[in-house]
Amino acid sequence: MNVKKILLDENEVPKKWYNILPDLPEPLPVPLHPATEEPVKPEDLEPIFPKALIKQEMSSERWIRIPEEVRDVYKIWRPTPLIRAERLEKALNTPARIYFKYEGASPPGSHKPNTAVAQAYYNAKEGVERLTTETGAGQWGSALSFACKLFELKCMVYMVKVSYMQKPYRRILMETWGGKVVPSPSEMTEVGKKVLENDPDNPGSLGIAISEAIEDAAKHENTKYSLGSVLNHVLMHQTVIGLEAKKQLETIGEKPDVIVGCVGGGSNFSGLCYPFIKEAQREGIRIIAVEPKACPTLTGGEYKYDYGDSAGLTPLLKMFTLGHTFIPPPIHAGGLRYHGDAPTLCLLVKHGIIDAKAVTQIPTFEAGVLFARTEGIVPAPETNHAIRAVIDEAIKARENGEEKVILFNFSGHGLLDLQAYDDYLYNKLKDT
Ligand SMILES: *Cc1c(COP(=O)(O)O)cnc(C)c1O
Repeated sequence: MNVKKILLDENEVPKKWYNILPDLPEPLPVPLHPATEEPVKPEDLEPIFPKALIKQEMSSERWIRIPEEVRDVYKIWRPTPLIRAERLEKALNTPARIYFKYEGASPPGSHKPNTAVAQAYYNAKEGVERLTTETGAGQWGSALSFACKLFELKCMVYMVKVSYMQKPYRRILMETWGGKVVPSPSEMTEVGKKVLENDPDNPGSLGIAISEAIEDAAKHENTKYSLGSVLNHVLMHQTVIGLEAKKQLETIGEKPDVIVGCVGGGSNFSGLCYPFIKEAQREGIRIIAVEPKACPTLTGGEYKYDYGDSAGLTPLLKMFTLGHTFIPPPIHAGGLRYHGDAPTLCLLVKHGIIDAKAVTQIPTFEAGVLFARTEGIVPAPETNHAIRAVIDEAIKARENGEEKVILFNFSGHGLLDLQAYDDYLYNKLKDT
């Protein structure tokens, strides 16, 4: 069979999201209130999230209906193509068949609008007028700016300072969609002011930016906060990726042996692999979560309750964590610089249902450049982590003479990350 690209009709955009909560191997440890350390009640979250999303966050229903208004926006770019990376296979001389789900096809260029659009919709429906958020490399901020504009909300983005400096084009993209962007730590919040007082050159972190965005939302009328990863409802919105991919593979009679994705907070990875989780356990599909060695949450963190932000404003979540005050080195994959990970993903890693692997920066760019030179598409630095692991698996398949089917999530394109490629091509990258 010589299939290059598997496309679905727009009517095949999923009608329901998949919620993994009822299918976990043990009940998810409940989030705890940051002040009292008692289990969080829905009312505790109402100052920062709309009711519909709080309900989804705590829901134990397996399938949740996608509103038609959200599906209608999804149809701008969904279903995304599933593409066979045949030229990459050839370059690696591997018997493995490699397929990638191309989430770079969305207007902001990543998977992130899958949840941004849903979140903007539910907020707008409950009368919210303004959303605040944090962003690393700028993908989440640009996805939310795009989504807010479609539902007529204002968007305020706290962008991690190191990325704000390295990646001006995503700021411009956010502003083009009408978002307001400030480098974090900023003078706009008490949290930001305190960090700057102690360390004026602080490069920022997602943890600090989250604290700033939450403080802003809690302080202002008709303003709520929006998170681009980690939470249950966010991962659930991303399952459109895996649900489509499953259908696409079925149409050509393929089944994955290995599923790979990169992990920052876990949303794109979970979005692809959660819809496969039951057969993964039944049929022994290997699922690999890839993270940077510079921020090795799943492979080097401790499984315990920790805050989601650096100031300790969020509920305590049971997860693998490097500690909420951990500030990772300024690697180019800004979207993977987070001290924790999604609690459901951590639970599945703890149970050995999902494997985790950490890779260093330079080999990820080697992988990304090989991908660009074979398949043409320039991947985001985050996506390069997944590609590194895919290439390693394909080489292993060659050495063992195994006809493996490898499926990975192409979380985003790298056309706004070209400085990172310049640094790699001219030997300016460091691996610590
Ligand atoms: C944000 C981002 C990631 C990491 O976030 P997850 O929530 O782990 O998916 C990965 N790839 C791209 C392209 C991103 O924009």
